[in-house]
Amino acid sequence: MAEQLKTYGDLLDLLKANGRTYDMDMIDRAYRLAKEAHGDQTRHSGAPYVSHPIAAACILVELGMDSESIVAGLLHDVVEDTDVTLEQITKSFGKSVSHLIDGVTKLGKIPYTSREEQQAENIRKMLMAMADDVRVIIIKLADRLHNMRTIEFMKPQKQRDKALENMEVYAPIAHRLGIRTVKEELEDLSLRYLDPMGYEEIEKNLALRNDERTGFIASIKQQILERMTLVIPKVYLEGRVKSIHGIYRKMFMQGKSMDEIFDVFAIRIIVDTVTDCYTALGVIHDLFRPIPNRFKDYISTPKPNLYQSLHTTVLSKEGIPFEVQIRTWEMHHTAEYGIAAHWKYKLGLSGQGSLEERLSWVRQILEDQKESDDATDLVRTIKSDLSQDTVFVFTPNGDVISLPVGSTVIDFAYSIHSAVGNRMIGAKVNKRIVPLDYQIQNGQIIEILTTKEMGRGPSRDWLKIVKTSEARNKIRQWFKKERREENIQEGRAEVEREFKRSGITVTDEELFELLSASSKRQNCATVEDLYCAIGYGGIQLSKVLPKIKEEYLKNKRPPAEPELKVVHVSSKKSASGVLIDGMDGCLIKFSKCCNPLPGDDIIGFITRGFGVSIHKRGCSNVPQDMEHAPEPERWVSAHWVGEVKEEFQTTLEIVADTRTGLLMEITQQFYNMHLSVHNLNSRQNKEGQTIVTATITINGKDHLQTVINRLSNIANIQSIRRS
Ligand code: MN
Repeated sequence: MAEQLKTYGDLLDLLKANGRTYDMDMIDRAYRLAKEAHGDQTRHSGAPYVSHPIAAACILVELGMDSESIVAGLLHDVVEDTDVTLEQITKSFGKSVSHLIDGVTKLGKIPYTSREEQQAENIRKMLMAMADDVRVIIIKLADRLHNMRTIEFMKPQKQRDKALENMEVYAPIAHRLGIRTVKEELEDLSLRYLDPMGYEEIEKNLALRNDERTGFIASIKQQILERMTLVIPKVYLEGRVKSIHGIYRKMFMQGKSMDEIFDVFAIRIIVDTVTDCYTALGVIHDLFRPIPNRFKDYISTPKPNLYQSLHTTVLSKEGIPFEVQIRTWEMHHTAEYGIAAHWKYKLGLSGQGSLEERLSWVRQILEDQKESDDATDLVRTIKSDLSQDTVFVFTPNGDVISLPVGSTVIDFAYSIHSAVGNRMIGAKVNKRIVPLDYQIQNGQIIEILTTKEMGRGPSRDWLKIVKTSEARNKIRQWFKKERREENIQEGRAEVEREFKRSGITVTDEELFELLSASSKRQNCATVEDLYCAIGYGGIQLSKVLPKIKEEYLKNKRPPAEPELKVVHVSSKKSASGVLIDGMDGCLIKFSKCCNPLPGDDIIGFITRGFGVSIHKRGCSNVPQDMEHAPEPERWVSAHWVGEVKEEFQTTLEIVADTRTGLLMEITQQFYNMHLSVHNLNSRQNKEGQTIVTATITINGKDHLQTVINRLSNIANIQSIRRS
């Protein structure tokens, strides 16, 4: 792993190979100054010191940085470690180079600590430096990366300290900047020192060696491309091998074994339209054998952060599993740059953030730059973007929020959460109360004051004050949502339904009394406010109902014991009911063998210790001749009651004449009906027909019938049945 010593000749070769225009005179002078200033200083490895700044400069060239950055890379240690002063640098190389070197030197002096509040402060300083000139951070990353590549010569304690700092500070920053190569190399290099055994174990277990892994991806891409371009003219493929650290995270943080990690290899397919996504899925499932239960349709059911893609895992012809992600360009951009506005430092790499969105242009710029031969463009774009358009501010917890310049405290509130904005009554900046139209400035700590009072909301005037479209949309949404009368009606209807279901019968007066008490507890001024809040979902009825029932029972003796009792399904959504004859309060579960749906003829079986399991009457596990069944007393009658809101999974088997586009049309129908698809497979039977099995979520028998009817309209389908 010892890296070849970099010479100035290597740097020149790289610059030449890059084919861009650089200020060679300045780079040359920088090299000579660095060489002279560092003199006979050596690295711990014994190598001449100047080999380090040269190596850092090489990394910067590879990242596509401009002449000034390369010069600053060559000189990044001279001010700190030699007699050369910043003034001299300014004189010979200009203000902007000396500014960069000063920035890198200062960054190096921010002490690393694992104390939380201190960390937040350090990150804050780094972000400020970044906002000032993001090149400072990129030069620092190059410096770091080369130091890590040569850290084997340092003492073990130092190795671990640096590795930890990389994991907690520099790798996340590289990630935020979208510089994946630096991030992954930093992580992999650091992991070697933080958990050498874990690292080795993974390295040994990887089925293929490093170059074989790259070769495998290339061959898979080729196979896919050949078939895909026949069906979809415009398709873009990306392939990647998960980094060792990435595998490590899955193994040790999610407790998975190497065999359970299917995305060591991943292929990403980017197409133009949603329809193309499903077509592409069909092609993939046709080309490679899908692994059961690994299909996820995040297109029809997006993740909470709005992430959308189709995911599936398939087996290569060699029997190596790999993950395939299929998405449109629009989905791709959302996935890459994130939506939620948050850099939650403590959560490490998991949070997506608007900060990333703001900074991800760095990669974009670096990518665009590959086409251009003038490196000075890069600098111009970078400078104009971050430093002038964005302010970084902080929540009282030290979370970083970035917003466009000119944003007000209201924009800040809405960028945290719409609920914060909607309940905002004031704001403090650096602990001082400010007016609502106050424009936030870099580095301020902002606290939003909110009210718990229900029914309050934003003012229409705010629409004129806010700067971001995010805040404006959320305010508009609130007004749309606040069609009070409708909400009241909806809330009242819901309460009445729920009362009926719980067997609560009250007069209007009693109802009013019961709810008045509840309104007060929920900070609602009136019963109407309570209805309204229930109506638009601000208050969950299931949360307030138990207390209401309790009070109702206090005042009233319960009616005579009914013969049948409602047994609620042990689900969080708990709205569907199953009646079991002569049983009370037992646990109900739906058997997996026949997946009964509301409307099906059902029967219950008293299990040993797991409550009653519900089967369809026709299920093969239900004895048809009860009288001679082994334990007849354990079979009990059961019926569906009430309105069913529960969701059920069911598997459809669709038989069709084989033709192109079939799977796509089926999935397109699912998509149109907003169904979530949990599993989707397609195979051919001996007769040459296509058998598609799809596991979908539906909410009852009627719904199922609708789905089947819709699917039957697809040409060439012979039969559809529940399997
Ligand atoms: Mn250095």
